[in-house]
Amino acid sequence: MQHIDQIYIDGAFVTPHGTERFELFNPSTGRVIGTVRLADEHDARRAIEAAKRAFAAFSVTHKTERMALLRRMHEAVEAKEQALFDAIVEEYGAPVSRARWMAKHAASVLLDAIKVLDNYEFVRRAGTADVVMQPLGVAGLITPWNSNAGFICGKLAGAIAAGCTAVVKPSEMSAIQTRVVTEALHEAGLPAGVFNIVTGRGETVGAQISAHPDVAKISFTGSTVVGKTILRAGAETLKRVTLELGGKSPVLVMDDADFAQAVPLAIQAGFMNSGQACIAGTRILVPRARLAEFEALVRDEVGRTKVGDPRDPATHIGPMVSQKQWERVQRYIRIGIDEGARLLTGGEGRPDGLEGGWFIRPTVFTDVRNDMTIAREEIFGPVLSIIAYDHLEDAIAIANDTLYGLQAYVLSTDPVAARAVAARIDAGRVLVKTLTHEPAAPFGGFKQSGIGREYATFGLEAFLEPKSILS
Ligand code: NAD
Repeated sequence: MQHIDQIYIDGAFVTPHGTERFELFNPSTGRVIGTVRLADEHDARRAIEAAKRAFAAFSVTHKTERMALLRRMHEAVEAKEQALFDAIVEEYGAPVSRARWMAKHAASVLLDAIKVLDNYEFVRRAGTADVVMQPLGVAGLITPWNSNAGFICGKLAGAIAAGCTAVVKPSEMSAIQTRVVTEALHEAGLPAGVFNIVTGRGETVGAQISAHPDVAKISFTGSTVVGKTILRAGAETLKRVTLELGGKSPVLVMDDADFAQAVPLAIQAGFMNSGQACIAGTRILVPRARLAEFEALVRDEVGRTKVGDPRDPATHIGPMVSQKQWERVQRYIRIGIDEGARLLTGGEGRPDGLEGGWFIRPTVFTDVRNDMTIAREEIFGPVLSIIAYDHLEDAIAIANDTLYGLQAYVLSTDPVAARAVAARIDAGRVLVKTLTHEPAAPFGGFKQSGIGREYATFGLEAFLEPKSILS
């Protein structure tokens, strides 16, 4: 049992004013593994005050000083990789290969920010003016549970690179990961108040940060519904916002695709992070003439997909993060059946032999129409929809017929034709025959998948405001 009793304000671990205890679970067993004492609005205000005090000196540091700090942060987080990995597996249930990537990613995003900063000019000439890129002020950074440590480090890296100070509100369900990261960042020895970490509920701590007049910027990753709440809360003080929200990403399988490669890639794109991924490819668009062939291969591929103990290296899909998330995914499977989609594989209930944890049967529906609920709403679990199309034009129209626009996948043997399709899809990222992440490229959504971009120069500039000086 781990009992987490402290938050981090003004360079020190302190006992929160908030007194609520929140239970932490191991999703593979459904058992309680600890508790966290949650911060409240009062704690959020103290953290904002500390960040505001620190901003005056921190905002005028030279970028080389901030690069040195980011390097120390990177070394400190990297040194805790094993503890972070263990926390991710135990508290979140990510299969070990994914958890290893997540633990490494939390450190590597700090290195990525150093590279961006090294090449960035804070002053540039425009006509007769000098344009100075100035840090915005105190940044509120709010993270979800599906990659909590990576988002804490990634958002902090952007804020600190820019010269902003920060108040982080991590997911309350990821307190063990947050503790590991906070201890690492404390060891990095940043000036007091530059970053503050207050684990608490969204409706209290998150809401306070989103509305507080001394917070200039919000960077949020989470659901579209909460993103809209944050946007409304920040409107009164015209906060700058970066919102990384949900998705319903299409996987457009072109009629020339090599199914021996396309099917495993589509299934991996759909089931990544146990299906709890905003970028998961959940709508698979398949040429009707080749549908039966595709379906047969999908059935085989899913049959080889192992669900279960995340510590088993053979496991592809771990549990859902919580009972609530498990119930949500079950509800969507029932809706899919009720709406008349055909179950190709999977279905309701738990996989055989996995009665303890919050495991889902990997599920693929076919004969799905794009207007069905399971094709429109983000499920956030291993539940995929195959949608047949007749012509490429229909496929592109279906791909774009969604409220979202975070990511898309195009699978074809013809790279030129695939590029032409990619050019017509409205999404922040289009991956042509690959699943590889590129930290040097911006990340973010079109439409209701969000506002703004993270990573690279775009991510840095999200924490900066241009000021033109004319003389
Ligand atoms: P969520 O929106 O419920 O919560 C995200 C964070 O917001 C949590 O820290 C939560 O406590 C906080 N929050 C809740 N209510 C708030 C409020 N009123 N004011 C301020 N903060 C509040 O999302 P989740 O369930 O933790 O994560 C899953 C969602 O995140 C999915 O919809 C997924 O698509 C999305 N997501 C998006 C990306 C991306 O980069 N686009 C990445 C990962 C997850």
